[in-house]
Amino acid sequence: MTHSGHGTFDGMRIHQLNCGTMTGGIPSRVLLVEAPDHLVLVDTGIGLADIADPAGRLGPLRHVLRPALDPAETAVRRVEALGLDPRDVRHIVLTHFDLDHVGGLADFPEATVHVTSEGLTWAVRTPRFMERRRYRRPQVAHRPLYAEYEFASDRWEGFRVVPLDHVAPGMMMVDLPGHTVGHAGVFVPGGAGRNFDDDDTGRDILHAGDAFYHRGQIDPTIRVPASIGVQERALALQPDAIALTHSGLAALAARRAGSLDVVCAHDPSGPGGTSSDSPASTGGRMSDPKPPARGSH
Ligand SMILES: [Zn+2]
Repeated sequence: MTHSGHGTFDGMRIHQLNCGTMTGGIPSRVLLVEAPDHLVLVDTGIGLADIADPAGRLGPLRHVLRPALDPAETAVRRVEALGLDPRDVRHIVLTHFDLDHVGGLADFPEATVHVTSEGLTWAVRTPRFMERRRYRRPQVAHRPLYAEYEFASDRWEGFRVVPLDHVAPGMMMVDLPGHTVGHAGVFVPGGAGRNFDDDDTGRDILHAGDAFYHRGQIDPTIRVPASIGVQERALALQPDAIALTHSGLAALAARRAGSLDVVCAHDPSGPGGTSSDSPASTGGRMSDPKPPARGSH
């Protein structure tokens, strides 16, 4: 692979960004990956066009989700706030097409949007009754350039995957069914051994999209509020697949605890979240065993 003269490739910096706070302080976690030659987003949260026209773009569900509609939270503004150029976002990988994940697509009209074929078919190409009600056509009306993939024989840690090395070295789409048809996680290798600033841990990250909602669903040491599972099943298009996806992710997180963070879109804890252990929802150090050195309250 080429790295355009930036020297030896030694990993990628990954920012975890909250790109759309919703009711109850639920974040919309997006990954911004600094690949060797460009930027990559995993999901896009709520976008500027959603904020300009919430009724048209988000539809009636906005009354339930009650997004903050703060332009400063959008991915495009977050990228700028980091001193980066939104035009360098050449690729976006989507976990699925729900409105809190695709709203920012229109803010990056030149980016190639990488999706599963199943997700694209059910959400955009030939949505059926449930999908027509669920997905918001205005959010993809600008006709993004899609690159689509099907899971086949490639495996990683027991999961079906699609390698996305052409998007960023080592990146993969990971088959995580349940929430929607064609729902996928996205694996991003971190910058192991590289000393990044304090908003990046250098660890690998699997963004599991909406494959779970609460950290405790894949970590038996953390208690999960009972309402979470009920909500999850109610919103899932393939609810019977949820349990297997959870147990696969739990096993993976335990097995790779030393090097991998498994995160989801809407858990408020950790970087890119909204809770107090998420300093600056623009990033923030992973919950650190040491006491915070500065600015705690
Ligand atoms: Zn979601």
